[in-house]
Amino acid sequence: MRAELARIAAVLLGVLSVLGVGSLALAIAMRREPPAEVVTLPSVMVSSVDAAVIASSDAGTDGAIDAHVVYALDDVPRRPEIVSEGCPDVPLVDHEGMWRPALRVHPSFVPAVGALENAIRETAREVYDRDVAVMLSASSYRCTTVRRRPERISEHALGNAIDLRGIQLDDGTETSVGAHWHALGQPEEIHARFWRALVERIRDRGIFRGVLGPPAQDHTDHLHFDRGPSTFFQLVLDPTAR
Ligand SMILES: [Zn+2]
Repeated sequence: MRAELARIAAVLLGVLSVLGVGSLALAIAMRREPPAEVVTLPSVMVSSVDAAVIASSDAGTDGAIDAHVVYALDDVPRRPEIVSEGCPDVPLVDHEGMWRPALRVHPSFVPAVGALENAIRETAREVYDRDVAVMLSASSYRCTTVRRRPERISEHALGNAIDLRGIQLDDGTETSVGAHWHALGQPEEIHARFWRALVERIRDRGIFRGVLGPPAQDHTDHLHFDRGPSTFFQLVLDPTAR
């Protein structure tokens, strides 16, 4: 009887171990490849609205962001050793206009700057009924890697990005991302509405492939715009989603 029980136990153990190996094999077979990378920085929040935009850019149907547009710098390698060797040798132009400090960008990026300027002017007219006197830049060309991702060259190092920190209106009123992005529900709410309207206009026109802003790490006091190879829209328009 005891031998019989031992035999049954051994058979059961065998079946269990086969099942174990089988389910492990099944788990490996069913493991899916991670989705294609659409973000370039870790630890940032993507709102549901923004996820929809990313999805539509993949579908390429509504033209909000046309993923099929090809830009002049798309084929430039972004390997890290490029920065350690010194930044890539790209042509650069200085663009002053209303910008303080003046911008330095790749010539192919100038139309994007023009489209951004139009969006800023139109949004200021709409929200404040005023003209813009000064556009405050935080950065344009800069030989660097992506913050916290030293293995990746920054679009700034190609003159393919710009950081906007604020604007000044023709009556001297100044607003900045750092001071007013979170002013919804506060006396200076009009500025928070300006920044949101601006970002929505930029998104709807598909001016840039990459948009970063609050509350993304290192982007709480400016908006980053680029035409790099990755399409992303990382900021939170709805403060209740924070
Ligand atoms: Zn930037």
